Amino acid sequence: MNIHEYQAKQLLKKFGVRVPEGRLVEEGPQVGERAEKAAQDLAKAQGNSVWVVKAQIHAGGRGKAGGVRVCKDISSLKAAATEIMAKTLVTPQTGAGGKKVHKIWIEEGSEIARELYFGIVIDRAISSVVMMASTEGGMEIEEVAAKNPEKIIKVSVDPTLGYQPFHGRKLAQGLALTAEQMKEAVGFFGNLYKAFMQSDCSQVEINPLIVTKKGNLVCLDAKINFDDNGLFRHPDIFEMRDLQEESAADIEASKYDLAYIPLDGNIGCLVNGAGLAMSTMDIIKLHGGEPANFLDVGGSASKEKVSHAFKIILSDPHVKAILVNIFGGIMKCDVIAEGVIAAAKELSLKVPLVVRLEGTNVERGKEILATSGLKIIPADGLTDAAKKVVAATK
Ligand code: GDP
Ligand code: MN
Repeated sequence: MNIHEYQAKQLLKKFGVRVPEGRLVEEGPQVGERAEKAAQDLAKAQGNSVWVVKAQIHAGGRGKAGGVRVCKDISSLKAAATEIMAKTLVTPQTGAGGKKVHKIWIEEGSEIARELYFGIVIDRAISSVVMMASTEGGMEIEEVAAKNPEKIIKVSVDPTLGYQPFHGRKLAQGLALTAEQMKEAVGFFGNLYKAFMQSDCSQVEINPLIVTKKGNLVCLDAKINFDDNGLFRHPDIFEMRDLQEESAADIEASKYDLAYIPLDGNIGCLVNGAGLAMSTMDIIKLHGGEPANFLDVGGSASKEKVSHAFKIILSDPHVKAILVNIFGGIMKCDVIAEGVIAAAKELSLKVPLVVRLEGTNVERGKEILATSGLKIIPADGLTDAAKKVVAATK
């Protein structure tokens, strides 16, 4: 799960991490007036005379796309708020269609001396938390990683041992902080680590982490992703979910507990088990096709779940053919067959459908498909299935 920058900042603040103060303004009538009121309220509390208007969307790269504006007086703030709220931002992370702005965050302006980068992720290969920092903040960190990987300092933290001051010192040294700032940084990074661990995050990214002209560290931006499997432990975090930021297909998929990831190709895949789903995508590619999605209905899907999975696949207009690839273990092939038929009939399926079934009750499943009256292309084995579905798109 993803949250907005303003929510991430509020979460970090609870863990003692310094963030700028701000006020949220939602879309609706009189955005300018409400923004003005929020800015004045903020100035009263913080004593600031500069504000930053920031579009709140679930994507980075807002600055370059015109979604972040520094304002030195109230009239330009009103104009900026109105303009940004009306925007649909197209950034490298939104896709070509862009993302409509529904919320803006008005923040006290910060005086920036240095823009740094800080991030925390999990490295599954070494079963550790990896903390990263770089002097090259504010820029696209992917580019730094590709061109100047030596400019990213990494420390891996064994979760059993936890964060230790030496981890923080190593990061701080790489950032060329002063002795005074280094002391602050050790605690600051420790608080970020605590926020990451205690909230079951999968990623925390602060870009930029700034050093202010007064010499303090502040998170000027904050992106947080959570491990969905840990969300049941955090109802307060789950409440921050913003459905407006998610696609209809994502919402449907999460409602029925389906692992769905849209891709660029034209072959819709309905598979049970993540491993089988990945090998299905591989074999489609091997035979010259491109999968339109990754979709794992799980090991014990019901007829209803299969039917909803089908609807999600068909909601993608790029899908030219569908491959159902099921290994019935816990899940029975006849149940799958019924789900497929129910969905195909209900949606009056118009694209070719290739089905490969194997495992428990496979004979019964094949019989159900064969006598359904639907034009289903049966396949034996993975290779046969991939060849048939690729041919069907041609
Ligand atoms: P992103 O483009 O979506 O990553 O949005 P950011 O929150 O990182 O903001 C983009 C850029 O706007 C930052 O790198 C800063 O250079 C600038 N910026 C953001 N807030 C402030 C501020 O308070 N003062 C100043 N001077 N610049 C800011
Ligand atoms: Mn940023």
